[in-house]
Amino acid sequence: MKTGPVTRAVLGWSFLLVTGLAAQAGPPPRVDLLLLGGRVLDGAGGDWVWADIGITADRISFLGHAASARVRARDTVSVKGLLVTPGLWDVHSHEEVGRVPGRWGKPFLTQGVTTVILGVDGFGNNEVAAMLARYRRQGIALNAARFVGHGPARTKVMGTDFARPARPEEIEAMKRYVKKGMDEGALGFSTGLAYNPGYYSTTEEVIALNRVAAASGGIYDTHDRDMGVSYKGIGFLNSVTEAIRIAEEGGTSLVFSHFNSLGLKAHPDMPEAIRRIEAARGRGVNIMAAQIVYTASESSVDGHLMPRWAPAGGPDSLLARLKDPVSWARMEPEIAEILANRGGPTKILITEGPKEFTKRSLADIGAQWGVSPTEAIRRLLIMTHGTRLMDMNLDIYSIENVRTLARKDWVMTTTDGYTPATDTTYTHPRTYGGFTRKFTQLVRDEKLITMPAAIRGMTSLPASFYGIPNRGLIKPGFYADLAVFDESRIQEKASYDQPRQYSEGTVHVLVNGKFALRDGKVTGVLAGQPIRRGGR
Ligand SMILES: [Zn+2]
Repeated sequence: MKTGPVTRAVLGWSFLLVTGLAAQAGPPPRVDLLLLGGRVLDGAGGDWVWADIGITADRISFLGHAASARVRARDTVSVKGLLVTPGLWDVHSHEEVGRVPGRWGKPFLTQGVTTVILGVDGFGNNEVAAMLARYRRQGIALNAARFVGHGPARTKVMGTDFARPARPEEIEAMKRYVKKGMDEGALGFSTGLAYNPGYYSTTEEVIALNRVAAASGGIYDTHDRDMGVSYKGIGFLNSVTEAIRIAEEGGTSLVFSHFNSLGLKAHPDMPEAIRRIEAARGRGVNIMAAQIVYTASESSVDGHLMPRWAPAGGPDSLLARLKDPVSWARMEPEIAEILANRGGPTKILITEGPKEFTKRSLADIGAQWGVSPTEAIRRLLIMTHGTRLMDMNLDIYSIENVRTLARKDWVMTTTDGYTPATDTTYTHPRTYGGFTRKFTQLVRDEKLITMPAAIRGMTSLPASFYGIPNRGLIKPGFYADLAVFDESRIQEKASYDQPRQYSEGTVHVLVNGKFALRDGKVTGVLAGQPIRRGGR
């Protein structure tokens, strides 16, 4: 995290350069806000330099030595010695920015995040224009861009009868939905091929829909078909290969939403998966990935702890099958196999669901009831009518693979999180510490990557990959999305035991030139902007 003497040696030169440029611009610049004396990491990956940053309206209007350039500012804030970076990008977020409590973005702002990418996992809304218009009307704390999702397209066309390959005319209808989403400003097309209803799609269907996204310059974002424990899956490596093929034949750039292998059996396959991705990158396929830095995942029980046929048709069908002895006799051994692949019932903790069972493992709940873990799942699903029952799967990722991925220059960062409802009793700590933990564990403690490299992967890398101009760097003319850190105080407070703790060390956050976080406190200013593809 510390930058060495080499940087200091080049500071004088940098100063002269930026000051010189500013001085040539004519009369003394006037700015609305001046951040004075920061150590500026511009997001491009190089070391920090001392610089003052001037902001006018929503843009960075000055970068250099303010006193030498005789900059006049309406408001000046000293950030002396603090690290100033572009605002961070959570490229796979489930934050509900249009709704309370997600609208305030507090877990994200307290980590320095200013932009979230939504509509991932194939869950995106097709009404992209309406969503973005609502964000603008209501006000949002973070900048937000959206993908158009495979799931709603499939559901809209096939209804509850989705547990089969789509017919040609159905694919045509889905293409129209994807086209509409793209026309309305979606960044691209997203899938969740491990989930219903995407699970039942063929590779060809997904390629056909990718071609529609590609025609508008869209990106393909995937929660791919089998990260290692899909039931029944095609295997982790085949899944990686399928995603690459979809992008290559579909003509899209590809991002693996949250890349890693799940489960003990798939952990050793990571080097080969990386080899396949890098080989494809070598032949010109634009592939990126985002990573979660925790080793636990979180998802819905009906979404990942049962065979895909069980919830097919929707919650009512699931309930009927859970209560039907014949269906249950078929389902139970399959659930037992899934639990075993995922590390067993002690590794599965209920996060959202009936309060008396949250933060407790399936093994524990089963023991209380005197039933098997599979029977515990059956009862919990019946209690919750098969909806909004979430769980966290401990130790599903390998920390070694997390480390390996962190060092790749094509890997970005994601929380995969959302602000839980106020009355939620338990949640995954990733929402509160997904970025901060990368700084404390991988940068500071383990020194696996440098701070400039980590920041680049959270700022300019996503901005350029997603094709959003004038964001992701600290540069005159760019939007003033900025995070100011006190490096010595950066610390995630969220833990598996106490997840709802805000990160520390983030001093200020500006979103489009406005303080969203000032002196460590959320201001409540909703200065986020909905972002359409191409940044419009
Ligand atoms: Zn996902």
